[in-house]
Amino acid sequence: MVEIIERGVRNHGMECPLHPTQVLTYFILGFDILSYYFIDMVSLAHNIPLIIACGVVYFICCVATVYYGYYATRVNPTDPTISLEARCKKHVIVFDSSNYEYHCSICKSHVLSGSKHCGQCNRCTSGFDHHCQYLNNCIGDKNYDYFFKLIVWVFWMCLIHNVTNGFVIYDIYASSKELVQMHIKFYDTAYDFKNLFKITLIVMCVFNSCALLFLTKLIVFHIELKYKGLTTYEYLKL
Ligand SMILES: [Zn+2]
Ligand SMILES: [Zn+2]
Repeated sequence: MVEIIERGVRNHGMECPLHPTQVLTYFILGFDILSYYFIDMVSLAHNIPLIIACGVVYFICCVATVYYGYYATRVNPTDPTISLEARCKKHVIVFDSSNYEYHCSICKSHVLSGSKHCGQCNRCTSGFDHHCQYLNNCIGDKNYDYFFKLIVWVFWMCLIHNVTNGFVIYDIYASSKELVQMHIKFYDTAYDFKNLFKITLIVMCVFNSCALLFLTKLIVFHIELKYKGLTTYEYLKL
């Protein structure tokens, strides 16, 4: 393990430095959640059953997204053979390499058959699927399930956000007096929120729609891979 640290290995996605794409993802996720509660929920506050239903379902999606996102990022997907062989060397114990067909010259260790060396993490990942920049971690057999559940929950999160945006847009075009009253009640009326509010709403609609398209494609792709029994890496190699 001492040797691994010396080579500058990334063990998981929470290790510093964080990737700029990862930081941007956290920022967008935070903005998406805040805009939902401070724009959509405030605008629909006159309809109590609707905001309770939407607010609770969206909250569940947020919790699941953070939970699966945390574990997909925090789990160390490194091939366990590397630390096993390193421990054997350290304690001068003979390592039985007869069961291992592959050897990584960078990790200087035998590795499992589905492992691949990731240049960005600088270590072999067991059951390598791909390196995810959004999570700043490799996706392998140890965190693939977390990753897949994460993209499914983010999909639901974006879908509920867009459906709720639809209710707000309907209220705007129906010139709902309740919506105007809620804005006067919750926002500073001295400031002209009308345009800023509409721009933010449109930006969130466009962003969530793009995210939904991307996530739909990604989920379908991974279901297809599961059906074929392939990893993303194996599929790209075909
Ligand atoms: Zn390696
Ligand atoms: Zn990686």
